[in-house]
Amino acid sequence: KFEGKNKYLFFKSSLSDFIQSRQKLAVELSNAVNSGEIKAYYQPIFELDTERLVGVEVLARWQHPVRGVIGPEEFIPIAEETGLIPKIGGIVTEQALTQCMSWWSQGIPEFKLSINLSARQLNAGAGDELSRMLSETGFPAKNLDVEITESAAMEKSARVVREIGHIGRLGVGVSIDDYGTGSSSIAHLNKLPVSTIKIDRSFVDEITTTNQLNSTAQTIVAMGHSMGISVIAEGVENDEQREYLKKLNCDCAQGYHFCKPLSQDEFRAFLKAS
Ligand code: C2E
Ligand code: MG
Ligand code: MG
Ligand code: MG
Repeated sequence: KFEGKNKYLFFKSSLSDFIQSRQKLAVELSNAVNSGEIKAYYQPIFELDTERLVGVEVLARWQHPVRGVIGPEEFIPIAEETGLIPKIGGIVTEQALTQCMSWWSQGIPEFKLSINLSARQLNAGAGDELSRMLSETGFPAKNLDVEITESAAMEKSARVVREIGHIGRLGVGVSIDDYGTGSSSIAHLNKLPVSTIKIDRSFVDEITTTNQLNSTAQTIVAMGHSMGISVIAEGVENDEQREYLKKLNCDCAQGYHFCKPLSQDEFRAFLKAS
């Protein structure tokens, strides 16, 4: 009111601009899915004790013809809303499984592959699709992990619990992603076949910004290990964080300190060099 009516008009038009550009992006995304613009990127995961590469997280990127590479924070929410997420997840997973089989057949040592699954994919029968892709590509189930966010995993719907159980029975590992950001109950976690938890980046940040005594990271590592679950720290950006996590006996880590997510070609070059 203080600013007068113009302000209202300004907000109104910027909101409709926002909605319009989002709708435009949604249309472009559905075309992108069919024209091969969705690509799998790879971020290495290292064992802290040995600094050995033990795994890779697969992260979706949109190679937009005009805007260049668009990250998942921008297009995954649109894909969730428009129902494209199962298709995008399928494309990225298939690329990664096929690519790894080809790398391994060229003598590159095996590592684990982690893919991200959203609640919506769990509801759309992700287990059956994974099972089909594993048999089509010949990728060994024991080398695959699915990452499910803590909030999706805590969804107590029978469907989600059943789907996670189904994935576990395929021999695929189940990781809880962004651990510590949601509110999880240990009782519910115990009902799921969880093999790994991933400490959310915000608690890794905490290591350099606050007192390291009784850190959240320390609590998560202790809890995970007491349940026989291995722990990966994400978003490790400096040596202080790496050193501290190693001291806590955290099993593995990923982050810009080691390596940023790489395109297929970049990752291949990285593998050859290491
Ligand atoms: P996430 O699974 O927690 O993935 C980790 C994110 O942290 C990635 O962002 C990665 O690029 C970023 N990251 C890694 N190391 C560092 C670091 O040292 N510092 C900082 N600041 N960031 C780091 P990205 O690739 O933008 O992905 C964001 C989220 O999008 C993912 O979070 C995941 O929840 C979702 N996502 C990505 N790909 C897929 C997919 O194929 N399917 C589904 N359903 N979700 C996906
Ligand atoms: Mg993840
Ligand atoms: Mg994560
Ligand atoms: Mg995250």
